[in-house]
Amino acid sequence: MSRYWSELARGLSPYVPGEQPKIPGLVKLNTNESPFGPSPRALDAIRAAATDSLRLYPDPQSTRLREALARYHDVAPENVFVGNGSDEVLAHAFVALLKQGAPVLFPDVTYAFYPVYCRLFGLAYETVPVDDDMRVDPAGFLGRGGAIVIANPNAPTGMALSRAAIAKLLADRSDAPVVIDEAYVDFGAESVVPLVRDHPNLLVVQTFSKSRALAGLRVGYAIGNAGLVEGLARVKDSFNSYPLGRPAEAGAVAAIEDAPHFQRTRLAVIANRASLATSLEGLGFEVLPSSANFVFARHPGHQGKALASALRDRAVLVRHFEGPRVDDYLRITVGSVSELVRLTEALAEIIGA
Ligand SMILES: *Cc1c(COP(=O)(O)O)cnc(C)c1O
Repeated sequence: MSRYWSELARGLSPYVPGEQPKIPGLVKLNTNESPFGPSPRALDAIRAAATDSLRLYPDPQSTRLREALARYHDVAPENVFVGNGSDEVLAHAFVALLKQGAPVLFPDVTYAFYPVYCRLFGLAYETVPVDDDMRVDPAGFLGRGGAIVIANPNAPTGMALSRAAIAKLLADRSDAPVVIDEAYVDFGAESVVPLVRDHPNLLVVQTFSKSRALAGLRVGYAIGNAGLVEGLARVKDSFNSYPLGRPAEAGAVAAIEDAPHFQRTRLAVIANRASLATSLEGLGFEVLPSSANFVFARHPGHQGKALASALRDRAVLVRHFEGPRVDDYLRITVGSVSELVRLTEALAEIIGA
């Protein structure tokens, strides 16, 4: 705290990212990073971009990447917006689209960044309770005026709505912009990108951080009606004209074009998720059905916070969130087979199974 802080800075309660500690032999299952590493083609492209050309500013529109994403998603480049991580894309969406007269709506159990953006950008918000099974309830977003943001699959539960359920919501709430945050969609949920054509109120946000194993590169994007994308670009060009450097754009283009690496690693995460869920259930955990690269699980005999801290003592990091309904749970990233063995052994020791 400094007396020189603005009133805005004083009033913030920033998002707290999962820790990145330097503990030898650490099993890091707390921030949903990929255990498999990026496409080797992406790494080559990033290296090849480290030339004298770095003295020049990059393309402010990231045209090559937007064209590659347009081909991949079968849309036009005018439907694609890119940014420095999907957190930045989401930030622009809050300013450009979600800040309307009525409070923005999102589930009460969801990505903790949404209320942080509301405070930073001066949006009122209201939460819509998830149901008794922790599922997002689309009906809760009807009959109210506000714009909508939903993570699908949701975080930190990992549970997904169907494309049909979101299509119905888009039609029922055609009065309002709807942002669907698909950070985890490649691990088993139905993307709503195909709905963009028929729903001018839909913005779909995706990232290279999870299924493309490039969290360190900071590339995210949105797909939507050209008018929505133009709104995001107006905000971006009022904030930072060059969100993606040359190496980031080159690496992202190569990553999106490396379909075999993407499929192999994505399917390996899905397979490891199934065995993680089975091992946890064997130890007495209740595991929510996940379509993401993490599971959300609780043990009837042990508190989430105590388990997370006992795991940390054994150099295994998982994420624990404070707050009603979620604080019983651990959010555990799907790691490699050997990481999941370490986790399971540590949990068995803690629980005394
Ligand atoms: C990880 C995550 C993001 C942001 O990822 P970036 O690294 O900023 O692209 C966005 N939404 C959700 C729900 C996430 O879990």
